[in-house]
Amino acid sequence: MNEPSPSRRRFLVQTAVAATALPLLARMANNPALAADLKPLTDANPQAKALHYTDNAAASKDPAHTAGSACAGCQFFTASTGACALFAGYKVNPKGWCTAWAKKA
Ligand code: SF4
Repeated sequence: MNEPSPSRRRFLVQTAVAATALPLLARMANNPALAADLKPLTDANPQAKALHYTDNAAASKDPAHTAGSACAGCQFFTASTGACALFAGYKVNPKGWCTAWAKKA
């Protein structure tokens, strides 16, 4: 049996995470008290490391990074809180980036 390609695997992970996390984030976006509890994500976080998160997309040397892509333009980012659907309990830098980046519709 063939392994899914890396891009297909990433799409499947993104879809699964979004389906579970986006409703929670929608509630958080409308609740300033919850949004204030979000901790800043750092690249020391194990999940952040796995997804090659950086809080400075412009300085990324990751081969998957494309110029101009950053959290602010990602479908998983909520601008009003800084929350990311992939990192529950954390807020990310709008100028950050990780390998799960997907262009906001
Ligand atoms: Fe989250 Fe998207 Fe930023 Fe990755 S690029 S940390 S998925 S908002």
